[in-house]
Amino acid sequence: MQKPQIPANETARLEALRHYGVLDTPPEQDFDDLVAIAAAICDVPTALVSLIDADRQWFKARIGLDAQETPRDLAFCAHAILEPNRTMVVPDARNDERFFDSPLVTDDPHIRFYAGSPLVTPGGEAIGTLCVIDSEPRELQPHQFDALQALSKQTSRLLELRRVSRALAQQLQESDWYEHKLLQYQAELEASNADLTALTRTDPLTGLPNRRAFALALEQAVARSDANAPLQVAVLDIDHFKLINDVHGHPEGDRILQAVADALRLYSAGPNSVARYGGEEFLMLFEAPSAQAQLQCEFVREAISNLPVGLPLTVSIGLASYRAGEETAATFARADQALYAAKRNGRNRVIVAEDV
Ligand code: GH3
Ligand code: MG
Ligand code: MG
Repeated sequence: MQKPQIPANETARLEALRHYGVLDTPPEQDFDDLVAIAAAICDVPTALVSLIDADRQWFKARIGLDAQETPRDLAFCAHAILEPNRTMVVPDARNDERFFDSPLVTDDPHIRFYAGSPLVTPGGEAIGTLCVIDSEPRELQPHQFDALQALSKQTSRLLELRRVSRALAQQLQESDWYEHKLLQYQAELEASNADLTALTRTDPLTGLPNRRAFALALEQAVARSDANAPLQVAVLDIDHFKLINDVHGHPEGDRILQAVADALRLYSAGPNSVARYGGEEFLMLFEAPSAQAQLQCEFVREAISNLPVGLPLTVSIGLASYRAGEETAATFARADQALYAAKRNGRNRVIVAEDV
């Protein structure tokens, strides 16, 4: 018995075989049908789709044989793949120097006749055969020979089809995964953008909206305002705050700023209707008539002067009405002028711009 040689392209051949992902998979009807047709046309009891692995031949489909695999050294098909473009026919194994003393010939299943047509990949690697076997010596008729070759080609195509459709399914799955990931990243990005936006609109010391956020809120209030819902802007400035810093220190100054911010938050109409303008100055927005806003400002002024912060604390407030059609900067400017009037007039007071 001659052991089959190892093909020159063995590494590429085995890799190609692995790519099909067919080894050790369950039987499939399509392959079973092909061996059944081969056996019927060639009029033999046994037909196989045999794949030559590194040291075994494994049968993807088989009819007339119980074994699922046999050692490569004994495999007729391992000889057949040495010539990928030729169908190997052994009319009587007893007369063939390669096989006459093979246990498959001398013993069960007593192979006499073998014909195997290699399964060839598009890259030219022979990964196995479609073969027919009989325990009687015989010849193939030309039409049987042609049919065996045609069925072998069909088997190769079927393997290739399975491989491609599996690769496609995997690509689809991967693209689903990528799409999922992409959406996730996008959501995370939007969330962190939202965080950043919140940061750019918040004063870090007091947690109040900053001047930018307030300006936006004011623009929005202007957009929805009408004659029945007048707008008032108040600018509030802590009196002699520099003195507090100078006497009690900067950290104490910060604490006072936070206490004032908390009080304003408490008396504000909504999340963006109070803001830290900068330094020791704050803004308030009232969607109310001037007189009502003035009362609320008095209330705030009074409340702050009563804050239990352990030192004298008062604020001056300038109040101005938004005039329909004007730039909001103009409203701020009038409120600012009113504030300075309040400072000039002795501080700890509310002045309405119209009074200036
Ligand atoms: P007036 O009654 O005229 O408003 O006097 P003032 O001392 O309050 O006004 P001035 O503008 O002279 O001083 C404001 C001070 O506020 C100066 C500055 O150091 C202080 N300041 C501004 N921002 C902060 C801050 O974030 N923390 C602290 N502790 N102090 C601040
Ligand atoms: Mg000031
Ligand atoms: Mg001040």
